[in-house]
Amino acid sequence: MTQAYNFSAGPAMLPQEVLLRIQEELIEYENSKASVMEISHRGVDFMEAAQKAEKDLRELLKIPDHYKVLFLQGGASAQFSMVPINLLRGGSKANYANTGHWSVKAIAEAKRYCDVNICTDSSGNNFTDIEDFHDWKVDEDAAYFHYTPNETIAGLEFDYIPDVSMPIAADMSSTILSREIDVSKYGVIYAGAQKNIGPSGLTIVIVRDDLIGHPVNGQPKLFDYATQANNDSMFNTPATFPWYVAGRVFEWLKEQGGLSAMQKINKAKAETLYSAIDNSDFYSNPVSIKYRSWMNIPFLLADEKLKSKFLERSKDSGLLALKGHRSVGGMRASIYNAMPQEGVDALVSFMNDFEKDFG
Ligand SMILES: *Cc1c(COP(=O)(O)O)cnc(C)c1O
Repeated sequence: MTQAYNFSAGPAMLPQEVLLRIQEELIEYENSKASVMEISHRGVDFMEAAQKAEKDLRELLKIPDHYKVLFLQGGASAQFSMVPINLLRGGSKANYANTGHWSVKAIAEAKRYCDVNICTDSSGNNFTDIEDFHDWKVDEDAAYFHYTPNETIAGLEFDYIPDVSMPIAADMSSTILSREIDVSKYGVIYAGAQKNIGPSGLTIVIVRDDLIGHPVNGQPKLFDYATQANNDSMFNTPATFPWYVAGRVFEWLKEQGGLSAMQKINKAKAETLYSAIDNSDFYSNPVSIKYRSWMNIPFLLADEKLKSKFLERSKDSGLLALKGHRSVGGMRASIYNAMPQEGVDALVSFMNDFEKDFG
């Protein structure tokens, strides 16, 4: 067993129990006498795993029956196109909140399909704060509203669901399953798996039935939600191995007590790290307190010149992948579901020691 804690933003740490389980059944999966990677996606063994994964995800997120759950490929980035393709439904305008790096990418893609109304723009404060919702400029005639509930790079997270009249599309790649959410408030929720679900190569899409089946003409058939929904996400060969691993992660989450338990654990982990940062003059986090992410916590050193020393020493102490995104600088600790409280405690204790030595 590794003694290291991996703070990577994605592909990210998986629960050790899940990795061990996968290792145990890697060569022969259930009764198939072959690896789960080697069997047909249409065979009984894989179909059972696939359906169980969906059932557990539905239970964890309390997904209403009038939503489809799709297990796709192409990452969250493919959804940047699939959302406008499917949600415009004859309309020519969409609302987007610009609250970070991933919002910017989603907006750029949407502009290829429609007029984008930016309801609110956090670029002026380097994505460290969100304008009060009452001051947003929401276009009531737009076909849908898109936002990124948790911005993975700057560490900016909404603590509410914007109250708009049109369907909401949400890029939940780095926050899905970290806390309880009310799925019925959304039109589409999507997430690349590699943050909080499983290995890369899988994208989960949760979409309300009435938003399926009205694609923009002339777009790839594979990008029509109906194509995948009508074929149980098996129109073409799905990402079978990541799908199976995601199923094991969902089982693990249920064993932890589901999302109400994860929410408490994640809140406590984030509080531990933010209070260590706030109680020191040596470390700082620039994000407005109300909108601080529970999952991705960037922090700066008072003396940026110490950064390489910090990274070298933390790695030697078994604290991996703490380098911040180049657009923010400093460090970033991603503390998704698989990161235990002990990992955050180990990081805080390392930070205190480092400050004693170099502060
Ligand atoms: C990582 C990430 C993405 C990009 O996901 P891909 O699967 O690489 O396309 C998009 N949005 C958010 C919020 C992310 O964290």
